[in-house]
Amino acid sequence: MHTVSKLYSKTNMSDRADVIVVGGGIVGMSCAYYLQQAGRKVSIVDRGRYAEAASTGNAGLIVPSHIIPLSAPGVIAKGMKWLMNPESPLYIKPSANPHFMKWLWLFQKHCSEAHVQKSIPVLKDMSLLSRDLLSEMCSLPGFEKTSLVHNGLLMLHRSESAQKDNEELADIAEAAGLEIERLDHAQTLNLEPALKSEITGSVYFKQDASLEPEQLLRALEIELRSQGVSFIDAEVTGFKTNRGAVTSVTTKTASLECDTVVLAAGSWTPILGRKLGHSISVQPAKGYSVTIPVDSPSLRIPCIATDEKVSITPMPGCIRFGGTLALQGFDDSIDERRVAPIRRQAGLYCSDMDDIPTWSGFRPASPDGIPFIGALPTSANTFMATGHGMMGVTLGPVTGKLITELIVGDTPSLKTHPFRTDRH
Ligand SMILES: Cc1cc2nc3c(=O)[nH]c(=O)nc-3n(C[C@H](O)[C@H](O)[C@H](O)COP(=O)(O)OP(=O)(O)OC[C@H]3O[C@@H](n4cnc5c(N)ncnc54)[C@H](O)[C@@H]3O)c2cc1C
Repeated sequence: MHTVSKLYSKTNMSDRADVIVVGGGIVGMSCAYYLQQAGRKVSIVDRGRYAEAASTGNAGLIVPSHIIPLSAPGVIAKGMKWLMNPESPLYIKPSANPHFMKWLWLFQKHCSEAHVQKSIPVLKDMSLLSRDLLSEMCSLPGFEKTSLVHNGLLMLHRSESAQKDNEELADIAEAAGLEIERLDHAQTLNLEPALKSEITGSVYFKQDASLEPEQLLRALEIELRSQGVSFIDAEVTGFKTNRGAVTSVTTKTASLECDTVVLAAGSWTPILGRKLGHSISVQPAKGYSVTIPVDSPSLRIPCIATDEKVSITPMPGCIRFGGTLALQGFDDSIDERRVAPIRRQAGLYCSDMDDIPTWSGFRPASPDGIPFIGALPTSANTFMATGHGMMGVTLGPVTGKLITELIVGDTPSLKTHPFRTDRH
């Protein structure tokens, strides 16, 4: 691994990268993966990869089923109802921060049927392509094969309102061509006998999958290092520019020259974008997970308990329970009241979990539920890849592929207009 000081003295020599990717989460790693495959010399600069990234402790669900963006009709009314409940899965901390106010305004503007209809094909095409790319990535030698499971996803319901939500999603998914099954209580248990959550039925999304996300990151790191990608442990503090193009990425101790920059710093990307004169609206949306080690998870199919908004993902040697979306800036404190519903679900499957810590991560949430993937209008050689919200693992690979195609000048695999960085 390069130390920063070593790199500083060598930056004009053989270590000079063609492309610097800022951020080593799933999105940055995926960009580096496809860029090096396209023959580019790549460096990833990250200040604390596995410690800070949302990409490690998340639920690991690969979800073509999630074709409805978060900004949908009815979400605001539901959110208002939840605001008074300290255990609810949604928390919005009032704030006069102008970036936050703008995000909220854009969010409510996109909570329309027209926006949902426009987004469905975009999210569906992206996630189905990404799922195939993920399968390829998961054949990397460093990836434990049992970690990727194509067992679909069960959206469980207990109450009538959760059943209504799941069935509406099923109708939309079916109309969009996804494979689904509506199951009653007995049929659900027949499919997944190890289920312990209280339910009346479920919708089964057959094309979903799941993996252990940190496994994938570590396999990508091994692969990228073996292909000559360098990893630089440093915080990017700014950029040197000349006539609108970035010439160097600067850290506290180094100035790293390159031809092209990709900003893939998750929830922190807008801070870097503003240093280059371009503002995108992305807010950190905190979520929690609790990972319980088990000898061998009896549960086979990942689930989402729709009433509680808790995900349940069997992984090799453990089951991970996740949930909550808290919009409160970069406050990384853990509110145990909101973790309680997650732990209650976990308690159905595992005993003795008092010593298990809660993990938290910041989802980079765009206000329209669509990521930002493309060139910066204010910089001739800088690209941005962020805003994947609840779907960064699902959409990371396709994002890396699109960014690479844009940089090398190939025809993009998907139309990139919906992702442009100057929308809103
Ligand atoms: C509880 C929870 C459950 C989730 N479940 C799922 C799921 O089941 N399926 C799914 O698809 N998605 C899921 N997500 C969402 C997913 O985790 C994120 O969308 C995804 O990890 C974002 O990846 P990223 O690479 O953009 O950002 P990150 O993983 O956050 O990586 C950003 C990186 O940038 C670095 N960085 C930031 N600023 C700087 C700087 N100035 N200099 C250097 N480095 C910097 C950070 O250190 C970090 O490593 C979940 C998220 C949460 C919180």
